[in-house]
Amino acid sequence: MVTLVIIVVVGLLTGIAIALVSRWFGVEPNPVEEEVRNLLSGANCGGCGFPGCAGYAKALVAGAAKPGACSSQCAGAAEKMAKLLGVAVVHKEPKVAVVFCSGDDMKATRQALYNGINDCRDAMIVAAGAKTCAYGCLGLGACARVCPFGAIEINEHRLAVVHKEICVGCGKCVGACPKKLIKLVPKSAEIHVHCMNPVRGPEKFKACKAACIGCGKCVKTAPEHVKLVPGAALAEVDYGNPPPEALAEVCPTHALRK
Ligand code: SF4
Ligand code: SF4
Ligand code: SF4
Repeated sequence: MVTLVIIVVVGLLTGIAIALVSRWFGVEPNPVEEEVRNLLSGANCGGCGFPGCAGYAKALVAGAAKPGACSSQCAGAAEKMAKLLGVAVVHKEPKVAVVFCSGDDMKATRQALYNGINDCRDAMIVAAGAKTCAYGCLGLGACARVCPFGAIEINEHRLAVVHKEICVGCGKCVGACPKKLIKLVPKSAEIHVHCMNPVRGPEKFKACKAACIGCGKCVKTAPEHVKLVPGAALAEVDYGNPPPEALAEVCPTHALRK
């Protein structure tokens, strides 16, 4: 009983001491910073380039950042923030993540069966995963698990797919993919070459029927929108001048698609 009373008294005294010290020496919350922070989404995704929403709010108040860098903010919030801080909004071009692989289980072959931990990074340790193509999506969802907005789905044929209408382009998934298959691209781009394998066409077509075989049909049809990667049997979209959706029709393997 005596021990219990001592523990309670010591606990109370410690609590009071901590409260007094933080009152005397603690930093007063900055009301403008609080207001700015309340205008941010609270997703803490880091897409603004700062360590979370609090870091961005601090930088905004200090004049080290401009409103408009938060891609997950509600409409009009950046303008409200700019008014509050007396600065101009700098709008970023909206970006979205794209998984540059089309090799789902229906189109791509496997070199082995993987029954280990259900994560792409773990599967990667075992002979770089089960897919025959070294650039194939492993479909175990490491990217989907880190997305704070639930924008990535692993489809029924074990391929990661980004829902463009949900993705805010924060970039968290980019670093999570051990195959480096995810890139941020302008949201306005309608179609992409969903393949990153640079090897000879026949070789990769054997491993994946959805590979870009480097036939050059898209490049011949629209050289102003698509080009061949130097030294690789692979086409890539010019994101400075992206192609119209209709160009996808010329691609024999459908690697060029939405
Ligand atoms: S898909 Fe990637 S870029 Fe898009 S919101 Fe999710 S983590 Fe961010
Ligand atoms: S895109 Fe990368 S992280 Fe996502 S499921 Fe495929 S291999 Fe895994
Ligand atoms: S048409 Fe398709 S397969 Fe041929 S180079 Fe273009 S993206 Fe690759």
